[in-house]
Amino acid sequence: MKPSTEQLQALLAELSDLSPILDDKQVTRLSKDFAWFSPVLKAALEHYKADVGFRPKTEAEIVRIVAACAKHKVPIIARGTGTGNYGQVTPLFGGVILDLSAYNQMVWQRGAVARVQAGIRLLDINRATIPNGFELRCVPSTFRIATAGGLYGGGFGGIGSINYGPLASTGNVLGVRAITVEPEPKLVELRSPEALLLHHVYGTNGIVLEMELALAPAHVWREAILLADGMEQALRMADEIANAPGVTKKSVTYFQSSIQPYLPMFHDRWATGKHAVFVVYAEQAKQAIDEIVGRHNGEITYDEDHQQQLDKIKTILEFTWNHTTLHALRVDDTLTYIQSGFTPGKHIEQALNMHQLLGDECMLHLEFIRLKEGGMTYSGLQLIKYSNAPRLNDIMQIHRDNGVYIANPHVYHVEDGKQGVVNPDVVMTKMRFDPLGLLNPGKLRGWEIRDQIAADVKAGKVNVSTLPKF
Ligand SMILES: Cc1cc2nc3c(=O)[nH]c(=O)nc-3n(C[C@H](O)[C@H](O)[C@H](O)COP(=O)(O)OP(=O)(O)OC[C@H]3O[C@@H](n4cnc5c(N)ncnc54)[C@H](O)[C@@H]3O)c2cc1C
Repeated sequence: MKPSTEQLQALLAELSDLSPILDDKQVTRLSKDFAWFSPVLKAALEHYKADVGFRPKTEAEIVRIVAACAKHKVPIIARGTGTGNYGQVTPLFGGVILDLSAYNQMVWQRGAVARVQAGIRLLDINRATIPNGFELRCVPSTFRIATAGGLYGGGFGGIGSINYGPLASTGNVLGVRAITVEPEPKLVELRSPEALLLHHVYGTNGIVLEMELALAPAHVWREAILLADGMEQALRMADEIANAPGVTKKSVTYFQSSIQPYLPMFHDRWATGKHAVFVVYAEQAKQAIDEIVGRHNGEITYDEDHQQQLDKIKTILEFTWNHTTLHALRVDDTLTYIQSGFTPGKHIEQALNMHQLLGDECMLHLEFIRLKEGGMTYSGLQLIKYSNAPRLNDIMQIHRDNGVYIANPHVYHVEDGKQGVVNPDVVMTKMRFDPLGLLNPGKLRGWEIRDQIAADVKAGKVNVSTLPKF
């Protein structure tokens, strides 16, 4: 599968006018993401890299690169800005990194819908749409640098998911324009629900060029830190804010007191031993936040205009979701993390139980999220005092045994992480968009059994309900 020197030379000869990136340091950088958060992935992936990078600016350039890769059978890995966490942009078989960060224009905004090119940074979408009264529905905490295509290809959701669920919730992604990997590529518009067939599969089954996204109303946001003495007290205070329908918010995060030493920048506002809740709420909810905090005997130690923080320095959002892990690793690089999903309605009980079972070896960092089905719960990104890989697996298994879902962040195959199982829809989509198997090869287990899946689909044994219609 790794391309030969001859294949690469033929490709480069055809694309020499597109400024191929050949500098070893640059190619190595383009081949990496934030997989180093995981000691397991760091060791597994550190030696892999691409052969060459391209940074196209137009659709015509992308079409030429894709066509040449198909013709010469060279692997392609789409890249936004490389903030993924699971080695998603790291090529296992060399080839081309298709850096889409210069393909980054707003296509249009029509009221509460925006159409964007895949390489646009999420912050730049908000900068364009907020003056018109709308903003992105959910963004990762890397929103300053991460791209729309990267969120779609490798991400899940984040800030705003408390209202709109993960990106995959019906109604969030309305359409995508994707390109097939063939000597004569086709440009295909997929509308919802087909528009999600290429989502969170690490660019293995199609390259997305444009996305059409539903937006949320933009508010004047404030950001606050709330403290409480007890774990259950803080969890219940956070829960009331998250669930209160009259309180407009876009983020509620709970941090166990033992995480405080790892976020020293807040030490003047977060006393040792206290549990913290970080909230971003609309200014009209200020009185309601005061009320709820009072009801739970909490205290507010920080409350600022969110936009001013965004313009001036970092917002508290850039300490939530997986940014908590990033900042904690800067204090103690022996830590790692897990990703988990709690059961709505049982989430407080489950969190207290996990703390009972694992103590400070697994420090609770919980982000409120509304699930696709509507229930409010936590997406956990617990900080782990790492000892070794078997113990890390034990910790994840203890969660599963107690009803807490684990999306293992220490694996790089699509199916081993959030997807969980081989999805015939994803594999059949790859057969249509990437018949030569050149997209991010080695990451999709289902591709290895594609013939069996295709036969099962043909025989009606597998129901593939959302195949793209083209
Ligand atoms: C500190 C930190 C915090 C994070 N917080 C969150 C969070 O809150 N929520 C969350 O969901 N994620 C989070 N992430 C992961 C990541 O930042 C996001 O998923 C982000 O949206 C990825 O965007 P990117 O442009 O960096 O993508 P990249 O890392 O460049 O790409 C991600 C994947 O998508 C594929 N891809 C990229 N562009 C395309 C395309 N046009 N078509 C098809 N496939 C494509 C790539 O091949 C790759 O497999 C976090 C990561 C870090 C390091």
